[in-house]
Amino acid sequence: MCGIVGYIGDKEAGQVLINGLRRLEYRGYDSAGVSLTNGDELCVVKRPGKVAALSQAVQEEPGSLRQHRVGVAHTRWATHGPPTQVNAHPHLDRSGRIAMVHNGIIENYRDIRAHLEQKGHAFDSETDSEVLAHLIGDYYQGNLLEAVCAALQKVEGTFGIAVICQDEPDQVIAARRGSPIVIGVGKNECVVASDAAAVVAVTQQVIYLDDNDVAIVTPGAVDIRDLNNVPVNREISELEWSDTSAELGGFEHFMLKEIHEQPDSIRNAIRGRMDFDNGTAVLSGLGTTPREISEVQRAIIVGCGTSMNAGMVGEYAFENFADMPTEVEQAAEFRYRNPIIKASDFVLAISQSGETADTLAAVREAIQKGAWVSGICNVVGSTIARETGRGIYLHAGPEISVASTKAFTCQVAVLLMIALKFGRCGRLSCTKGREIAKAIESLPMLVEQVLERNDIIAKEAEKWVETDHAFFIGRGYQFPVALEGALKLKEISYIHAEGYHAAELKHGPIALLESGIPVVALVNEAPGKEKTIGNAHECAARGARIVGLITEGDTETAALMDSVIEIPKCPDYVAPVPMAVALQLLSYHVARLRGCAIDQPRNLAKSVTVE
Ligand code: GLU
Repeated sequence: MCGIVGYIGDKEAGQVLINGLRRLEYRGYDSAGVSLTNGDELCVVKRPGKVAALSQAVQEEPGSLRQHRVGVAHTRWATHGPPTQVNAHPHLDRSGRIAMVHNGIIENYRDIRAHLEQKGHAFDSETDSEVLAHLIGDYYQGNLLEAVCAALQKVEGTFGIAVICQDEPDQVIAARRGSPIVIGVGKNECVVASDAAAVVAVTQQVIYLDDNDVAIVTPGAVDIRDLNNVPVNREISELEWSDTSAELGGFEHFMLKEIHEQPDSIRNAIRGRMDFDNGTAVLSGLGTTPREISEVQRAIIVGCGTSMNAGMVGEYAFENFADMPTEVEQAAEFRYRNPIIKASDFVLAISQSGETADTLAAVREAIQKGAWVSGICNVVGSTIARETGRGIYLHAGPEISVASTKAFTCQVAVLLMIALKFGRCGRLSCTKGREIAKAIESLPMLVEQVLERNDIIAKEAEKWVETDHAFFIGRGYQFPVALEGALKLKEISYIHAEGYHAAELKHGPIALLESGIPVVALVNEAPGKEKTIGNAHECAARGARIVGLITEGDTETAALMDSVIEIPKCPDYVAPVPMAVALQLLSYHVARLRGCAIDQPRNLAKSVTVE
């Protein structure tokens, strides 16, 4: 799940690798390590904790390490064994001459380990990854590529790997199945990485590996084979992201920077995609005609976490704009419950990274069953984007903070556009379509107005510092925003928070209410507003403190709340975006005041590439 960097070229490999790991830190990890070789020796340095500790340890190593021009490095997100120094990657084979870093999970590692133990192998760590390193070593007979291919044919599960060998110091071997690998091809140098963020500092020219590709990476050249060592062709593409995207730019945290980027990121997501004359959206990525759209009978939106919450907003829009029966499914559940899928179904997979393992598995299942499958991803060239073949990029720019902000609002903007397009291919009138198109176009401005209220929201956050529990309630379009608000708060402030449909509280959760617990009520101008206010009052009657997220100027509702955060007046279907931004800011300030590690919350990883 976490970070891989490999380097070969004319620079000091150790330095490039540590810099690369720093750029992957945002993904969340628990330990780090690096291995370098010059042909005479192969050294490994690993540390639990942060890349800074690793960097320090590398500096304390004897000077010869500086000359090494090839190496691999890793930040680990532990799946098998605790985050200790021994379990950290790289792992060595039995001879100590081959070093490997691995992302993912080797599912049959117990069988392989037992088999190798019978042959006399002894293992230092508890990881599944060390078993793969030993297996490669076991097959090694002077040709690393052949050994890697042979070993990978035996393993089940997911991997992105980078491997070096002291006896062949002129190459890095990289391979993938289910876990991304991108190779940056520079002049006289190449970088292997699990994420383009580690490549941009070196080059913009990249090659994405497909599943079961194995790459022989040499300075400035990449030769790709399948697992049978048969050459395959992969195109070079140009990265959209610049090197400065991964810098703080004066903000205290990436999360705050990304919250503030939202007017621009939404502008980028909708740019060139609105057709105001015809009151529709132009989404060439969907690669389909109005006739094909009109034949769709049902939409199924799959995703996990924040993406699933965005999907729920999409569900309301699909039903309202396009009269389209729509379901939202947790992607893992979709995959394993053997869903009934027809050729007339439109399956829409949402994943910021485009690598989310459960969502990718759902995509493959839906393709297998014959549905029309499309993806909404942020990372260009990501696996879901490539495997669906037709999809919509968010163009939000890199999202570094683990807690998603700009991806959510861009996902909502894109979902509204797709629903609008579907609506216009059906019963939605041009007049109504134009009205919706105008409302979508106003999103960046609505977000700007919420950002102006940053200080008011920061003041509200001061009341939350000692809070242990919180509830978020909403209905209609704001119900998923209540879920997202609660998710954001628990992710970064570690306050126990729950989002509920406003009507659901009294069916059980209300039993938890105690004096002073904040209940955030999302009450804009929408059907059911009075009922949500009533639900908030049921909470107030039990001692809860009601924070109203209300429409600007709604003094009547404001008078009924303990405190309020205002969002600009806007149609119900676009309100999830300004509402979500206000709640992002609230979570951010609460976490900041509680001294939390905002950009790298404990236990979380940015891109969840294991099931
Ligand atoms: N499964 C491996 C481990 O626990 C790799 C984890 C990762 O992807 O970072 O070490």
